[in-house]
Amino acid sequence: MVGFIRADLAALASYTPHTGGTSTEGVDRLDTNESPYDLPLELQAKLSSLYQHQLENNRYPDGSHQELKQAIATYVGQKITPDQISLGNGSDELIRSVLIATCVGGAGSVLVADPTFSMYEIIAKTLAIPVIKIPRRLEDFSVDLDAAAAVIANQQLPPLRVIFLVHPNSPTGNLLNSTELNWLYGLPSDILVVIDEAYFEYSQNSLVTAIAERPNWVILRTFSKAFRLAAHRLGYAIASPEFTTALEKVRLPYNLPSFSQTAALIALNHRQELLACIPEILAERQRLTQSLAQYPHFRLWSSSANFIYLCPQNPSLDLAQFTQNLKTRGTLIRHTAGGLRVTVGTPAENTRTLEHFEALINQNPY
Ligand SMILES: *Cc1c(COP(=O)(O)O)cnc(C)c1O
Repeated sequence: MVGFIRADLAALASYTPHTGGTSTEGVDRLDTNESPYDLPLELQAKLSSLYQHQLENNRYPDGSHQELKQAIATYVGQKITPDQISLGNGSDELIRSVLIATCVGGAGSVLVADPTFSMYEIIAKTLAIPVIKIPRRLEDFSVDLDAAAAVIANQQLPPLRVIFLVHPNSPTGNLLNSTELNWLYGLPSDILVVIDEAYFEYSQNSLVTAIAERPNWVILRTFSKAFRLAAHRLGYAIASPEFTTALEKVRLPYNLPSFSQTAALIALNHRQELLACIPEILAERQRLTQSLAQYPHFRLWSSSANFIYLCPQNPSLDLAQFTQNLKTRGTLIRHTAGGLRVTVGTPAENTRTLEHFEALINQNPY
């Protein structure tokens, strides 16, 4: 072991992201919940032209993000002001900033309810922040609130400072229910509640109105999903001005490339056009769900996002092998947390997904 590297990093592996590029050539990429549609050609042309005629490659980008914050505040509505917005290089950077601002250096620990988005735990561990995990109920994937209350009553050290929840959750697709929300509303104000609304444009269900009344709440959103800009790495946090000030203190000064900021502005200006494919995605989600529900091999749950989650009825079904076999046939999905998460793609992609499921199920006596 090299003497100058933190000893606790030895136990961590670096994140192996989606490889993209040629390794997925000819394969439907339905494993990362991106939009199946790139920007329309007119917007691509507009971006190219801005790149050619306006972007100054030799200059630092706008590190204040003022114009984009204003545009986002207008999009979010609900009287949110630009000083209540902080921008990150993807929501991933914001998750890290939240953790730096609240927990680093032994100041706090965090709570997550599994199965959920893996980056909270991964990023916390890189900062040596303890992660407490509680389960969800299998009926509806709501949080086991008895377990959560026990964690809070436990008064561990370092103290619990942050709870991360996705609304709707990934990989399971469920929104927070009223019991969970009432519990969250009643939490002490020295615990930060992070509501990750990465799939808001699909669920159309936001908790942003809570921000006005609750200084211990923050909402995260991203341009990586319905806004079709995953390549540009842009996320935003909505919170009290006090908390966004803390987030701004800990971020890197030029965290957003000029081209990414331009792309986000264009996407917001053309949001009606970009978000117009959402009804199709929701109808296709319904088609996928109904078709897969015909097989007794899987249990399905209803989803409020652009993906569906299924678990095998037979616990001995080898999900890793099943996922690999699907990929060999041309459909890449995510094997996660004892289940399968399938992104809703284009109608043609979804038809192939169903064909590949059917072929595999007919071939093997699962
Ligand atoms: C996809 C996703 C994000 C987006 O992360 P970026 O870093 O903005 O690309 C954030 N949270 C959840 C739960 C997600 O599924």
